[in-house]
Amino acid sequence: MMKRPHELGELRQDPITEKWVVLATGRGKRPDDFAGDSKRHSFNAYKTPKYKDDCPFCNLGKFTQEPDVLRLPDDPERWQVHIFGNKYPAFQPHDELRHWQVGPYRAAEAVGYHEILATRWHNQFGGYASEQLMAMEIEALVLRYRQLQIKQSVNYIQIIKNQGPEAGGSLEHPHHQIFTVPVLPNDISDLLHGTERYAAKNDQKAFTIILDFEKSDGRRIVWENEDFTVFCPFASRVPFETWVLPNKSNPHFESIDSSQQRSLAEAMRQALGRIAVGLKNPAYNYYIHSAPCDDNGFVCDDRLFGNFRWHVSILPRLGQWGGFELGTGLEINTMAPEEAAEFLREQKVPEPVE
Ligand SMILES: [Zn+2]
Repeated sequence: MMKRPHELGELRQDPITEKWVVLATGRGKRPDDFAGDSKRHSFNAYKTPKYKDDCPFCNLGKFTQEPDVLRLPDDPERWQVHIFGNKYPAFQPHDELRHWQVGPYRAAEAVGYHEILATRWHNQFGGYASEQLMAMEIEALVLRYRQLQIKQSVNYIQIIKNQGPEAGGSLEHPHHQIFTVPVLPNDISDLLHGTERYAAKNDQKAFTIILDFEKSDGRRIVWENEDFTVFCPFASRVPFETWVLPNKSNPHFESIDSSQQRSLAEAMRQALGRIAVGLKNPAYNYYIHSAPCDDNGFVCDDRLFGNFRWHVSILPRLGQWGGFELGTGLEINTMAPEEAAEFLREQKVPEPVE
């Protein structure tokens, strides 16, 4: 095996998407340098009140929301998380999908569901929420996913979280967003085709090879339990990019049972808690990449799922793209994932808020 010849920067390729990143660690940044933003020090989950009168997701009497589609526990008094339609949806819900051809071009109606999962209390930020609450959020996401995936217009479901203003989180109150789209999104198409291409070339599943290698190498592993591995990917696109990957091959997030949901909550708390403490509460985005959910043949081909494995990608927002990144699509990452993982391994997960 070729080793790195000398201490220059390094180009690294993601084996699935075949996309390159630039690892420019020669700039000499230490993990602590990323936690240096003084604005972030003022954020304190323990001093944030449980309820804020001027928050639309706290004061549901004053700021009326769309009706709940799901509550856990399913009780008007005791509920802890709820899901409801976004007041300002990016897509309009509609059960049917109409699509057509214009000469060489394909088009379809932009139909879809755009929903919010919010916690009951304002201070239950990711990494600071209890494991029980995080498990309840995951259970609610799984249950709603199963309800949405059978709708004719739903081909793909994207679950995301934007935490902090730099990550597009316009409201501080902890919430996930659920989007459904009638087409196969570009990045999912890249992942599915990438895993197929990899399997055809290597006669093995890419995620199996990656996980086996990461576990034996160990340098990029942050934390693991029986069901999940938390690690910083080899071709990390941003400093401290962190993935939560199931240990068993499974393309479908919504298929995880209640024991795996609790296990995922534990892994997410470990990942988010270490990022929050180590990097002083940075803004971040995370998203769940899962297999498409449809069989209507418009955009998906079921044969593409077999080699895919669902996972969560967490991307702290510690820098901004410049012209080089926009012009080339090559991301310049100034923190080696090996160093990022070592730093995150050393952090202590915070006590949950009351
Ligand atoms: Zn609130």
